[in-house]
Amino acid sequence: QKQIQLAQRPNGMPTAETFRFTNTSVPEPKEGEVLVRTLYLSVDPYMRGRMQDTKSYVEPFPLDEVIHGGVVGEIVQSNSPDFKRGDTIVGMLGWQEYSAVPAKAVRKIDPDVAPITTALGVLGMPGLTAYFGLLHIGQPQEGETVVVSGAAGAVGSLVGQIAKIKGARVVGIAGTEDKIQYLKELGFDETINYKTEDVQKALEKACPNGVDVYFDNVGGEISDAVYSLLNKFARVPICGAISSYNKAGEDLGPRVQMKLIKSSALMKGFVVGDYADRFEEGSRQLGAWVKNGSLKYEETIVEGFENIPDAFLGLFSGSNLGKQLVKVTDP
Ligand code: NDP
Repeated sequence: QKQIQLAQRPNGMPTAETFRFTNTSVPEPKEGEVLVRTLYLSVDPYMRGRMQDTKSYVEPFPLDEVIHGGVVGEIVQSNSPDFKRGDTIVGMLGWQEYSAVPAKAVRKIDPDVAPITTALGVLGMPGLTAYFGLLHIGQPQEGETVVVSGAAGAVGSLVGQIAKIKGARVVGIAGTEDKIQYLKELGFDETINYKTEDVQKALEKACPNGVDVYFDNVGGEISDAVYSLLNKFARVPICGAISSYNKAGEDLGPRVQMKLIKSSALMKGFVVGDYADRFEEGSRQLGAWVKNGSLKYEETIVEGFENIPDAFLGLFSGSNLGKQLVKVTDP
């Protein structure tokens, strides 16, 4: 079977040399284990952090070992009473065609409830990130102005829509005209293309009443521009800083302390795992919104195992609309 290992720790943007394609035998599941055939695999910006050998909230990927990420797969052999052949599961598994793992490492999903890919997107980690980051930290109120960066991505597109559900006015920032068009279709009130517009000026125009919630997916200069518009008691969930993930040195920028003091604003970093004990609540609500049509989602699906590294790198050039996935094989 095919497998992708971390061959080198990247310095700056990962390259072909970062990844090593290898061939190994299909593993034999032990007692209590299941053998999973990979159907869909998720590529996520946070994985860039795990390629670095620095302390973080998740361990770095070991060198010369298979890279791990979110996978939706099918049980092909089960040595556990909890699963049978043909079950569809989701779990953190390797970038490989087959994985043998303890049964407790995977969770069953019901293909009749929603398309199985949603377990890696709107009903999975990105959905829960949007839900808890926005509602727990951002707490948007009716009529308030919510700004979201990375707005057409997996997390951002959901953040904007959930803010609309809560009655807020939503401003989305993204990097292509197609994405801007998509945000308009989703009902965003204002949009900004940060690659073609002066972000500061566009924000001032889009936010005449200032900014009450800024859901930050990107960091860097885009965020610097938003901070100058924070209203009294604004809330700023810090979800990601993708603009800095491939910077070789320190990411330096203007200081924000005085802006936070003057606005009595709250800036709070978080990881979705902080809310692990409430995932069931989040999944239930997200599922209900998808079902009643108030929450829409997009998936960009690249086909073929050999295209995994390119799909991953595409996150940093913005080639994805909504959740980026790789289809490895048909169910
Ligand atoms: P996305 O689907 O949003 O994909 C990444 C997008 O980021 C690209 O499509 C691109 O869109 C944009 N982007 C890339 N480089 C830059 C840049 N230099 N400046 C501005 N925008 C850029 O990914 P996710 O929705 O999965 O993740 C969004 C953010 O949330 C990431 O920062 C991620 O690390 C973070 N995250 C945090 C979690 C947590 O628990 N805290 C959990 C999940 C995600 P465009 O064309 O608009 O540039």
